[in-house]
Amino acid sequence: MSTGTVDLASESTSDRVEHVDVLVVGAGISGIGAGYHLQHECPGKSYAILEAREAIGGTWDLFRYPGIRSDSDMYTLGFPFRPWDSDTSIADGQSILTYLRETASAYGIDQKIRFGHRVARATWSSEEDRWTVEATRTDTGQSVVLTCSFLFMCTGYYRYDQGFTPNFPGTERFQGRIIHPQFWPEDLDYAGQRVVVIGSGATAATLVPSMAEKAGHVTMLQRSPSYMLSIPGQDPLAGIVRRLLPIRRAYSVVRWKNVLIQLGLFKLSRRRPKLVKGLIRKDLERRLPAGFDIDTHFKPRYNPWDQRFCFIPDGDLFDAIRGDSVSVVTDEIETFTEKGIRLRSGRELEADLIVTATGLILQPIGGAELVVDGQPVELPTSMVYKGCMLSGVPNFALSFGYTNASWTLKADLICQYVCRLVNHMESHGYTSCRPVNRDPTVTETPFVDFTPGYFLRAMNQLPKQGSKIPWRLHQNYVRDVRLIKRSPVEDGVLQFSAGQAPAAAPRTQVAAAA
Ligand SMILES: Cc1cc2nc3c(=O)[nH]c(=O)nc-3n(C[C@H](O)[C@H](O)[C@H](O)COP(=O)(O)OP(=O)(O)OC[C@H]3O[C@@H](n4cnc5c(N)ncnc54)[C@H](O)[C@@H]3O)c2cc1C
Repeated sequence: MSTGTVDLASESTSDRVEHVDVLVVGAGISGIGAGYHLQHECPGKSYAILEAREAIGGTWDLFRYPGIRSDSDMYTLGFPFRPWDSDTSIADGQSILTYLRETASAYGIDQKIRFGHRVARATWSSEEDRWTVEATRTDTGQSVVLTCSFLFMCTGYYRYDQGFTPNFPGTERFQGRIIHPQFWPEDLDYAGQRVVVIGSGATAATLVPSMAEKAGHVTMLQRSPSYMLSIPGQDPLAGIVRRLLPIRRAYSVVRWKNVLIQLGLFKLSRRRPKLVKGLIRKDLERRLPAGFDIDTHFKPRYNPWDQRFCFIPDGDLFDAIRGDSVSVVTDEIETFTEKGIRLRSGRELEADLIVTATGLILQPIGGAELVVDGQPVELPTSMVYKGCMLSGVPNFALSFGYTNASWTLKADLICQYVCRLVNHMESHGYTSCRPVNRDPTVTETPFVDFTPGYFLRAMNQLPKQGSKIPWRLHQNYVRDVRLIKRSPVEDGVLQFSAGQAPAAAPRTQVAAAA
């Protein structure tokens, strides 16, 4: 791998191809984390971040629906290197976005981002030991080509240009408005209106109490219930520890406390589902009005943590249900009508506004096409190594967080691993590395052991995981600290080679071209 000498602030030009050591794609939580770690752990390496949108923050900039907030705590959703400096554990979207922007600016990561560059294709050449990455400028449609020694996809997991809406019959008849939360109109006024929110996930559970503050009435319409558990919006321990310890230490204590609680809840749910169901039931009985039909509306058909839990900060959804501005209906949609929705039971829900909180369309690696030595990479036939590399794909990593804990916990481990790998290659003179499965006893299993609709719909587009370490995903931060952060880079599975990679263009050459 070449030493970083390229002026990355420069724009690529059509008459020459710019090279960077590490090319990061995406400027959300993962891409910002990647920038931080590359700067601190690989200071000699050049890097750039290509971002399709005109803004930093990914998910936290895109979603603007009322009440948007994290549903995992900020001490684990925040970066380990930048303390979340507040007692508020469940934060609103704007505060998270501000935190991300400030982090990027504090470390100069924002200077490395090239906005409006959508990566469409990356082609690996083993002769040159480098990727050629093709992006399109979203403003001009112009094609931009860069080369890199290592490609790090921090592109999230879903499509930005479309949300998922099932094919509901009769939508064209409906006289009111239909909105998907992914595309919330800034000026939408729903004061006094009758709103139906279709969905039973975290987005619906967030929207309903928030919209109820202004709307005439909000109905949460779900086909089947999800597990909903109240959690404190403010972390009581964080308040105490933050007063006793220096900020970084306090942050680390609260972070680990929350890691262990999340892990404990997940394990308990898998081992003693009846016990966890009973605890959730008790909380619901305490919070919901007497006589509320919990069995119909809040008793899921699956076990806790077969799908992601919906955490309800301070039980605000249940408070809203206790008032008279929110109702919950569990039924199936037969058709949209002029006035609203007719249900299978024959009941009609009248509405002025229908919000389809029906999910995301999963999309791995930002929809980009990967080609290795002329062969297209078929994700479903590849296997993930340590949760972040793909079998047979050289000098490549992707960031994919946890499904049962904060995304950032895993994303950050992956960023650290990429840096370790890049440094290892540099110190050993390697120019390429790729994971190769030579163990015939490793069998393929689905990428996630998890059943929400958006994963099930897309399972056939995802890579597989294997039955054994290092191909197995554990969804367990403590195990991953050992596997990803601490275990030796050379493990017999990752194959290294020292080829004839051309050196990076000297700084003056690229600067002159810019
Ligand atoms: C509404 C909502 C709430 C959530 N709440 C939580 C939560 O509370 N806790 C939690 O842990 N997780 C949550 N998640 C998951 C969430 O996505 C992660 O927390 C985290 O934001 C993912 O960060 P990321 O940087 O990996 O991906 P993203 O935030 O998706 O960012 C990816 C970036 O890559 C860019 N990109 C994609 N493709 C390309 C391409 N081809 N070329 C160039 N750029 C590209 C995108 O424009 C985007 O800026 C939530 C998700 C949603 C949708």
